[in-house]
Amino acid sequence: MNKRNYKKELDDYMASLKAEGKTPSLLLHSCCAPCSSHCIEYLSECFNITVFYFNPNIYPEEEYRMRAKEQKSFIERFPAKNEVSFIEGEYDTKAFYDMAKGLEDVKEGGERCFKCYELRLRETAELAKKLNFDLFTTTLSISPLKNAEKLNEIGGKLAEEYGVGYLFSDFKKGEGYKRSTEISREYGMYRQDYCGCVYSYNERKKIKGEG
Ligand code: SF4
Repeated sequence: MNKRNYKKELDDYMASLKAEGKTPSLLLHSCCAPCSSHCIEYLSECFNITVFYFNPNIYPEEEYRMRAKEQKSFIERFPAKNEVSFIEGEYDTKAFYDMAKGLEDVKEGGERCFKCYELRLRETAELAKKLNFDLFTTTLSISPLKNAEKLNEIGGKLAEEYGVGYLFSDFKKGEGYKRSTEISREYGMYRQDYCGCVYSYNERKKIKGEG
C-alpha cells in the first residue's frame, strides 16, 4: 500500500483555505520552541493558532520550565501571519510515570514513545473539544526521530473519539526540520540535546560517555 503524503495533503488543504479566505482555529500541541518554530511559521499562514504546551514527560522540572519559557518568548517575538496565543497544560508527571511503567528500558522510538505521543495528543484532543477548536495537531512530527505515521494514526483515532478534526502532518518534510534549525539559530533559542523524559536524558548521557 502506498504511504500517504501528509505534506502534500496539508499543502493542498492550506491552498484551498487561502482560496476560500478561511482561517480555522487550531490547537497546536508543542513540545518545545525550536520544534514549534517552523510549524508556527508555516501554519500561521492559514490558521489562528493556540499553542498548547503540555509535556508532563519532561525531566527535570527546571528543564520543563525552561522549555515553557522559551516557548512563550518565541511566540511573543515571532511575527506570525495570523493570531498565535499560548496555553500551558498541567505538569502532571504522575500521569507520565504511570504510563511508562514497565517500559522504562525500551529504547527511544519504541512502545513507550507511542504511549507518550498518545498521552499528550489525548489531552490536546480533549482541550480542543472543550474549547471548540476546529482542529488539533502536534509539532512532534518535525523531529527526524519521531514517527509521523504513528502520530497520525493516533491523531486520527482521537479525532474520531472526540469529534474534533485532526490536522494530518509530517512537518519534517519539505526541509521543515532544516527550517526549524535555522529559525532556532536566528532567535538564539535554547535547544536541548535529548527528547525530554528521564529515560532519554540517561540514554543521552550514556552516548556522551557521562552516564
Ligand atoms: S523519549 Fe521522548 S517521546 Fe519517548 S517517552 Fe521519552 S519523552 Fe516521550
